[in-house]
Amino acid sequence: MSLAHSSAASTSSAIPSPKGARNAKFAEFSTQALLPITSRPDLVFTHGKGGWLYDHDGKRYLDFIQGWAVNSLGHCHPVMRDALATQSGMLLNPSPAYYNVPMIELADLLAKLSGLGKVFFANSGAEANESAIKLARKWGQLHPNASGGARFEIITFKNAFHGRTLATMSASGKPGWDTIFAPQVPGFPKADLNDIASVEALIGPDTVAVMLEPIQGEAGVVPATEAFLKALRALTKARGLLLIVDEVQTGCGRTGTLFSHQQAGIVPDIMTLGKGIGGGVPLAAMLCGDEFAVFQPGDQGGTYNGNPLMCAVGLAVMRTVSAPGFLEFVRAQADYLSAGLQHLSSRYGGEGERGAGLLRALLLGRDIGPQLVEAAREMTPDGLLLNSARPNLLRFMPALNVSRDEIDQMLSMLDALLAKHV
Ligand SMILES: *Cc1c(COP(=O)(O)O)cnc(C)c1O
Repeated sequence: MSLAHSSAASTSSAIPSPKGARNAKFAEFSTQALLPITSRPDLVFTHGKGGWLYDHDGKRYLDFIQGWAVNSLGHCHPVMRDALATQSGMLLNPSPAYYNVPMIELADLLAKLSGLGKVFFANSGAEANESAIKLARKWGQLHPNASGGARFEIITFKNAFHGRTLATMSASGKPGWDTIFAPQVPGFPKADLNDIASVEALIGPDTVAVMLEPIQGEAGVVPATEAFLKALRALTKARGLLLIVDEVQTGCGRTGTLFSHQQAGIVPDIMTLGKGIGGGVPLAAMLCGDEFAVFQPGDQGGTYNGNPLMCAVGLAVMRTVSAPGFLEFVRAQADYLSAGLQHLSSRYGGEGERGAGLLRALLLGRDIGPQLVEAAREMTPDGLLLNSARPNLLRFMPALNVSRDEIDQMLSMLDALLAKHV
């Protein structure tokens, strides 16, 4: 052990630090100290600007992943850099036990934009969802069933994704996740998306809520239909259940409206936000209607929750996304991207495309997604970063301010790839 440790130490001191390097070799980086959690390609990103990322070797990549639908304004947007610079010179963290200015302003903005009166800040989507689960269980204690028992069951959906904590993994319906870290947190029966009878069949005396993504992102951009969302809203109201929407991926302008559920004309009781709200920094939120704000002091919290640095960035992002004209722009770019993807699909015999706003999937009709992702990344002189959420499709989540030029470049690169691989 100590031998291995000292040899690793001497290796790293023998090689000059490649931090921030341009034109470095991948082998110069000692990556072995990183716990392997995913198989990463042999490249190290050093900087990014707008729609482009640059690697250790100076090669650039057109980025249609954007940190997994996170960088709403692209890489290193000036409004975010300004917010970080200004706030970092003022106050980083007074503790969550005190108010700070960005926390107050962002909560107020989110409440106004969403119509949900109360906001709790978190650091990740999973944590925001944990909060929603806790809030629903608390509400179920205060509103028990006919025999006086606390209600705690939350109906979720097959193939859903709600995060990687134990409770949010249990709420998720990803195949295999029920056994990977068994035992699961109990109380998350799974219904079928877009099948209201399957939800109704699961409602029992312990049921307190139904929770879903308006569009299942990780499942491959699978939308809940407008009719289903409306039926779910009516059903939950009629049966005294809370409706929780997980808008971690679909929220904050991603789908062409500020929040995706607005397109179905429904109002949820609880909503969670993450990813795009921080534009790339760790920020998330749980929102609820005033009547559901049942946490007592001490029930919920967290060291970094509502810290002014992240809230200042979130405020800059949300002001930009909610500014007049921004969402119209997103919808115009989305129509353009959608038409381009449809065109490619008919040209190469695929199964069309789907999605909302700038969260879209191209249905390939065969399991070549991972192959295309790799070939796209390895293209020269410029690479292309794509995601294959399922082997038979590609998912697109560019910056919300993506340009037509960038969409055109992506489509022509994808055209060349499909010509080779189909
Ligand atoms: C990404 C995602 C999460 C988890 O967010 P983290 O910030 O990774 O914890 C939860 N729900 C949905 C719908 C997501 O897409």
